[in-house]
Amino acid sequence: MDDPFVIVGGDAAGMSAASKAKRENPDLDVIVFEKGEWVSYAACGMPYYVKGAVDDLEDLVAVTPEEFREERDVDLRTGHEVVSIDPEAKTVTVETDGDRFDQPYGAMLIGTGARAVEPPFDGFDLGGVFTLRSMDEADAIEDYVDAHEPASAAIVGGGYVGVEMAEALTERGIDVSIFEMLPQTLQPFGKETARVVEDHLRDQGVELHLETAVQGFAGGEHVEAVELEDDSVPADVVIVGVGVAPNVELAAEAGIELGPTGAIATDEYGRTNYDDVYAAGDCAEATNVVTGEPDHVPLALTANRAGRAIGTTVAGDPTPTGGTAGTAIVKAFDLGAARTGVIDPDLAREVGFDPVSVTIEAPTRPHYYPGATDLTVTLVADRESERVLGASVVGREGAKRIDTVATALHADLIVPELQNLDLAYAPPFSPVWDPILTAAKVLAGKLED
Ligand code: FAD
Repeated sequence: MDDPFVIVGGDAAGMSAASKAKRENPDLDVIVFEKGEWVSYAACGMPYYVKGAVDDLEDLVAVTPEEFREERDVDLRTGHEVVSIDPEAKTVTVETDGDRFDQPYGAMLIGTGARAVEPPFDGFDLGGVFTLRSMDEADAIEDYVDAHEPASAAIVGGGYVGVEMAEALTERGIDVSIFEMLPQTLQPFGKETARVVEDHLRDQGVELHLETAVQGFAGGEHVEAVELEDDSVPADVVIVGVGVAPNVELAAEAGIELGPTGAIATDEYGRTNYDDVYAAGDCAEATNVVTGEPDHVPLALTANRAGRAIGTTVAGDPTPTGGTAGTAIVKAFDLGAARTGVIDPDLAREVGFDPVSVTIEAPTRPHYYPGATDLTVTLVADRESERVLGASVVGREGAKRIDTVATALHADLIVPELQNLDLAYAPPFSPVWDPILTAAKVLAGKLED
């Protein structure tokens, strides 16, 4: 390949691909165009920066631009926006400081990520109304909280960003209310887990307004209230976290196909409908290991892993990007909640399963050992095949036990196989029967009925 490997977007997907491609093939020219100034940053850490658990925003940067350029020999160009792609001519058009130029590529990766969804709320442009997607937004929220010392905060959306920000702002001494249109928070985590989280949020002083649609925001220069259909609730700062949309416009305009989820369609190597054009991360689809269908899971490991695989492929060693189980974990004050696979019974039926589920509470250590707490485990399987479909867990410790079920999903295990896994046991860590094994035992019994 004479022309360089060109990467659009300098975060998880893009920089993983750049680093891996250079490591595998140091002779390959790799150019990364990033429209902003931040690269290789952990967006996941931003709520903890606002909370005060991370001192400096710079601490969230894994590898600096200088390190990429000097130590990894990546031609990283920040402040460069790719404004169009010509997949027939194999060039991208780049804009920087008002100038434009065309850059030929041998292979290209689209790693443009996703953006926060902004519903057409009145008053979105008021001071103190934020979304949280970029490092600059995290910085702006922090500055606003410091300068205005808000007494009350409204969070629109009870997803994981909303829940993490509820904790962050409560920790800053602010009274927090969450407004959620659906009857529950953390919708992908299932009802049982959400209920435990919601009780805990209320215990921590967070006011929950479920089944409550926000109409907009009111105020003068700065936000003062959240407007509901028939009410107005005071709020000195607002965080809107109602989901993300993949940044696919650049690809779509170039004739690169989108999949059923609206993100960029890719094959098992992350390749689009153009042979030398790849897509990875929050802008792209991945195959769900349970359903076998394209899925859009905008999470960090999916982006890092696909970027790394594509870097290896472009360097000469074709490597699949791997499927997704939609595994996710979130901290809500003193609780951890996690999910994997297909939990929603309606969704399971839609893709042809007959879901059977159990929800159990089991201790994380034997009763005699100090510190045991209950973990609530919901485990779902298909009635006929007994295949494990998904799980959700919540508790004060042990939410990472979800990884056992995620592994079972990747290995296509059935419930009796999950039940018979040889998991580690000693009193300080677990009861003899780990809570996941207990849930599998109970589910196996239900499947026999
Ligand atoms: P992005 O991180 O969105 O990066 C895309 C980059 O492309 C951006 O820097 C953008 O400026 C650049 N770009 C876009 N268009 C162009 C263009 N035309 N030209 C040049 N550059 C362009 N995930 C988890 O797994 N666990 C968590 O706990 C977690 N917490 C999160 C908390 C928050 C508040 C947020 C916002 C996200 C969180 N995530 C979490 C999600 C995770 O951060 C993303 O999945 C990950 O960043 C995706 O990486 P990416 O490279 O695909 O996209």
